[in-house]
Amino acid sequence: MKVLLSESEIRRGVRRMAEDIARHYQGQPLTILAVMTGSVVLLADLIRLLDLPLRVGVLQASSYRAGTTRGELTINYDLMPDVANRDVLLVDDIFDTGHTLEAITRLLAGMGPRGVRTAVLLRKQGRSEVALQPDFVAFEIPDEFVVGYGLDYRDQFRHLPFVAALSESDIARAAR
Ligand code: 5GP
Ligand code: MG
Repeated sequence: MKVLLSESEIRRGVRRMAEDIARHYQGQPLTILAVMTGSVVLLADLIRLLDLPLRVGVLQASSYRAGTTRGELTINYDLMPDVANRDVLLVDDIFDTGHTLEAITRLLAGMGPRGVRTAVLLRKQGRSEVALQPDFVAFEIPDEFVVGYGLDYRDQFRHLPFVAALSESDIARAAR
């Protein structure tokens, strides 16, 4: 496992992103919607840095059904608060092809929000397949499969306080 972002680098990057978000919303009420489960650690850190009138909700999206390749996307809105007339900031762990955030953004737009923006911890370089660009990005990373700070491989490694790239042998070992 190769550490790409240390705990202190992540802390600084999340603080920078929180400052950008606060500057953008200028004290206006905001609903943060976190895409579970990968953004759970980012959510906890980010909301404590935002001095805004804030509501917090979650929805669930899963696409990595088997390992490291993208499967069919399923979205569960059961736990989501009402977003009509609210400014919504959709928060996710990583923007890879962008299909997940694009699909959720499109569905949210049909629920009558005041506006929808997106914030991610990581964006993988050279991978986007959609027109949507995230509005707030803490870190750009190379095209490697990463875990930690909420990101998993087969539900392992989410609790690591750093972000690390998994090698082929890490993947083979974790798959057992
Ligand atoms: P996208 O729809 O942008 O291709 O993928 C977004 C989702 O795929 C993320 O929310 C995340 O769950 C998963 N994903 C993409 N790249 C990685 C990665 O390198 N590591 C992990 N653990 N998940 C990833
Ligand atoms: Mg995810």
